Amino acid sequence: MTDNKFVYEFSEGDASMRNLLGGKGANLAEMTGLGMPVPEGFCITTEACTQYYVDGETINDSIKAEILEYIAKLEATTGKKFGDPGNPLLVSVRSGSRASMPGMMDTILNLGMNDTVVEAFAAKTNNPRFAYDSYRRFIQMYSDVVMEVGKSYFEELIDEMKESRGVKQDVELTADDLKELATEFKAQYKSKIGADFPSDPVEQLFGAIKAVFRSWDNPRAVYYRRMNDIPSDWGTAVNVQSMVFGNMGDTSGTGVAFSRNPATGDKGLYGEFLMNAQGEDVVAGIRTPETIDQLKDENPDVYAQFVTIVDKLENHYHDMQDMEFTIEEGKLFMLQTRNGKRTAAAAFKIACDLVDEGQITQEQAVRMIDPKQIDALLHPQFNQADLKAAVPIGKGLPASPGAACGKAVFTAEHAAAMGKQGEDVILVRLETTPEDIEGMHHAKGILTARGGMTSHAAVVARGMGTCCVSGLGEISFGPGGKSFTLGGKTFNEGDWISLDGTSGAVYGEKIATVPADVSGYFGRVIEWADAFRTMKVRTNADTPADARQARAFGAEGIGLCRTEHMFFETDRIAAIREMIVSKTVEQREAALAKLLPMQRGDFEGIYEAMEGFPVTIRLLDPPLHEFLPTDEDDIVALAAEMNLDLDELKEIISSLHEFNPMMGHRGCRLDVTYPEIGAMQTRAIIEAAVNVQKAHPEWKVVPEIMIPLVGEVKELAFVKNIVTSTADAIIAESGIALEYLVGTMIEIPRAAITADEIAKEAQFFSFGTNDLTQMTFGFSRDDAGKFLDAYYATKIYESDPFARLDTVGVGKLMKTAVELGKSTRPDIKLGICGEHGGDPSSIEFCQTLGLNYVSCSPFRVPVARLAAAQAALKAK
Ligand code: ADP
Ligand code: MG
Ligand code: MG
Repeated sequence: MTDNKFVYEFSEGDASMRNLLGGKGANLAEMTGLGMPVPEGFCITTEACTQYYVDGETINDSIKAEILEYIAKLEATTGKKFGDPGNPLLVSVRSGSRASMPGMMDTILNLGMNDTVVEAFAAKTNNPRFAYDSYRRFIQMYSDVVMEVGKSYFEELIDEMKESRGVKQDVELTADDLKELATEFKAQYKSKIGADFPSDPVEQLFGAIKAVFRSWDNPRAVYYRRMNDIPSDWGTAVNVQSMVFGNMGDTSGTGVAFSRNPATGDKGLYGEFLMNAQGEDVVAGIRTPETIDQLKDENPDVYAQFVTIVDKLENHYHDMQDMEFTIEEGKLFMLQTRNGKRTAAAAFKIACDLVDEGQITQEQAVRMIDPKQIDALLHPQFNQADLKAAVPIGKGLPASPGAACGKAVFTAEHAAAMGKQGEDVILVRLETTPEDIEGMHHAKGILTARGGMTSHAAVVARGMGTCCVSGLGEISFGPGGKSFTLGGKTFNEGDWISLDGTSGAVYGEKIATVPADVSGYFGRVIEWADAFRTMKVRTNADTPADARQARAFGAEGIGLCRTEHMFFETDRIAAIREMIVSKTVEQREAALAKLLPMQRGDFEGIYEAMEGFPVTIRLLDPPLHEFLPTDEDDIVALAAEMNLDLDELKEIISSLHEFNPMMGHRGCRLDVTYPEIGAMQTRAIIEAAVNVQKAHPEWKVVPEIMIPLVGEVKELAFVKNIVTSTADAIIAESGIALEYLVGTMIEIPRAAITADEIAKEAQFFSFGTNDLTQMTFGFSRDDAGKFLDAYYATKIYESDPFARLDTVGVGKLMKTAVELGKSTRPDIKLGICGEHGGDPSSIEFCQTLGLNYVSCSPFRVPVARLAAAQAALKAK
C-alpha cells in the first residue's frame, strides 16, 4: 500500500491530470474550474484501478476509507445524504479512462435508490412517475452492470408491461406501472442472483465502483484497446457524481452535441436532445430525438446559455467538442466534454479551419490528426455512372461517409467470420451494441434500422472510418432475424447490397467502387506535416502503376520492389518455369535470356514513374516451387516446351518440394546456387537505369540493389560480387557515370546480431520486419491467426506482432543492428520495408532508431507521412 491520494473532488483537479483522473474526470474537473454548471462529485483515480487489480480484484481498506471520506464531503456540499428519506443523495458512477473508449465500459445512474428513498423521492418531487422511472432504471443498470444479470430479461418485462397496458412508448407508462416494474425487476434480480437487491447505498456504491474497475477488462474493452493501441495497464478512473434529472417532466431533458459537424467538419452546433429522458436515451435510439436547434423553441434561455458554454469550451480546448448535457426543470447542467471523434474528412477540415481562425498553429494541426484515420479518406467511392443507374431501395441517416458494397450478414459473429476470410460484408442490424464491435470492425459497411446520428453504430463507425447508414426504420426483419425486407424486396444472408454513407441511400445490388479523390484540406495538412518530418517516406511498389499511385500520394522513392511479382503474368511464367527446371547452366541461361528484356522493361517503367527518386530493387526472394505448375495440362505443356520426358519433369518438380519453404531454398540462397539468376537481374536493373538516365539527364537515377535473406557476411559478399562485376561492366560500356548501391535486408536474427560484419559489405540495411518478426518469434504470419486469439485472451500478447512492431524483442534486434552497422559504416543508409513501415506506432519506433526512411504500400504513404511528422515532433 502507498500513501498516495486516490480520490479527488472535481474542484481539486484539472485537464492536465488526464492520466490520473481519466479523460472524463479531468474534463469534468476543468469545466468545474471554468465555473460551468457541473453537478458536484469526485473522481477515483486510475491508480486506484491498478491497485484494485494488484490487490486481487478488491478495493483495499485505505482506499475504501478515502472514498467514504469523499462521500461525506459530497453529502456536505450538496446538503443531501445517502439513504436519507428527507433529502436523499443520488449519484452516478461513471467510468473514464485516459483515452476515450465510448460505450466500452459501464455507467450506473440513480445509485442510492431503495424502497424507502423512492417513496420519499416521489413525495419530495411531487412526481411519483419520475421517482419510479429512476428507480427501475437503477435496478436495471445495476443488475446488468454489477451483477451481470443481462439486459434482455428486463427489456422483456418492459415490453410485456407496455403490451398489457396497450401503449407503445416507455413514456406512456404510468407511475403505478413503473412501480410494478421496479418490483418485478427486483424479483428478477433475486431469482437470478439468489439474494435480495441491495438496499444499502454504500453497498451499492462499492458494488458499482468494482464493476467499473472490472469493466476495464471486459472483452469488448480489451478488443477496443487492441484496435487502438491502448495499453492494458492504464486502468480506468471512476467518477462519482451527484445526479441531475432529465426525466423530471416536460421541462427536463437530456442531449448530446458537437461544436462542429463531426461528419463534415462544418462549423456550427450539431446535436440531438430528448425532453423527459435520462442518460443514454438519446443515443440508444429508443425515441427519435429532436435536433439541437429545436431547443431554441423549447427553451430559448437554456439554448442561449448552452451556446455560450460551447463557445467557451471550444476556445478553451482549441478543438471540436463533444458534449453531454441535461436540463433539470429548466436548469442546464454539463455532464461531459471531450475532443469529439470525427470522420477523416471532418478532421482535416476542422484542423484547417482552426488554423485559419488563429486557434491553433500548423504544428498543432499536424499533431491533432490520428494518422490511422487517413485510411478512410483513401477508401473507395461509388463509380458515379453505376450509381446513377442504380435506384435506392431505402434511405436512412448518413451516419458515416464513404461507399460500401458487400454481402448482407445479420450477426456480428458472421460479419467477423466472413470478413476474416476476406469476404466483403455489410452488417445489417436492428441497432448495434458494444458487443458487436469485432463484427463491425470486419464489415465494409454497417446498416441499422434504429438509432440517430449519435447512435452507437454511428459513433463507432465514424471512429473506424467505416461507412454507416443508420435509422432506416422501414427495414423489417424476417423470422429469427435471418432475412430483412426493404423496398418490397427480401434479402437473405449473402445477398449483395450497397450503402452510401454520405447520402444515407441503400441499394439492393452491387455497385462498383472507385478510389477516392484526395485533395483540399487533406493536402494542406499533409504539406504542413512534411515540413516537420525528418524520415523520408518511400513505397513498396512492384509495377509502374503502383509506383505512379504512390508518387501521387507523395512517396519519395521505392523502398522495396519485389521482382518476383512480375513473374506471375501469363507470358512470363513459362520462362521462369523453364529456368527453374533447367538441368544445365546453358538451359538456365537460355530461359533467363527470355526474361531479361521483360525485367528491363519493368524497371524502366518504374524508374520513369519515380522521376529520379531512389529505387530499391530486391533480387529474387521466394522459394522456387511457388512458380511451379501443379496442373497436369501445364506440366505437359512445360515438358513439351523444354523437350523433356513427362516423368522426368515430374521428378524434377517433386525434387523441389520443401518441408519448410519459408526457411528453405530462397532469398540469396538462390543466387548462391544459381549465380546466373543474380547476374540476369543485375543486368536488367542496370541496363534499365542507363537507358532512363540517358533519356532524362535532369534526373539522377540511382538503383539500390538489395540482397534478401542474408544471415552471414560471406554469402552477402559472394552475391555482391556477382552484382558488382555485372554492373560495373555494363556501366563501363554505357559511356555514362551511373551510381548504384548494393545493400541487404536485415530479416534474419543472425544478420542483426552480426550487423557490424554485414555492414562492411552492405551500403544500406532495410529491415524486412515481416520475416524478422516471423523468425524472431518462430511462428509464421500465415499460421499465427490460429492461436493468437488465445494469446490475447490470456494477455500473453496484447497485439499482433505482424501488425504492430514488437519493439521489445524484434525492436531490440533492430536497435542492435543499427548500432553495430553504424560502428563499421557510419554513413550506412537505414530503412524499413516490412508492413510495419505503414503502421503509426511502429513508425514512431523507427524514428527513435534513427532510420532514414520508412517504406509502405502506396495507400499507406499519406498515413506514413503524417505519422512520421508526428514522430519527429514527439522526438523534439
Ligand atoms: P459513456 O462514457 O458511455 O458516455 P457516461 O458516464 O458519460 O457514459 O454516462 C452515460 C449517460 O448518463 C450519459 O448520457 C450521461 O450524460 C448520463 N449521466 C452520467 N452521470 C449523470 C449524472 N450525474 N446526472 C445525470 N445524467 C448523468
Ligand atoms: Mg458519456
Ligand atoms: Mg523477407
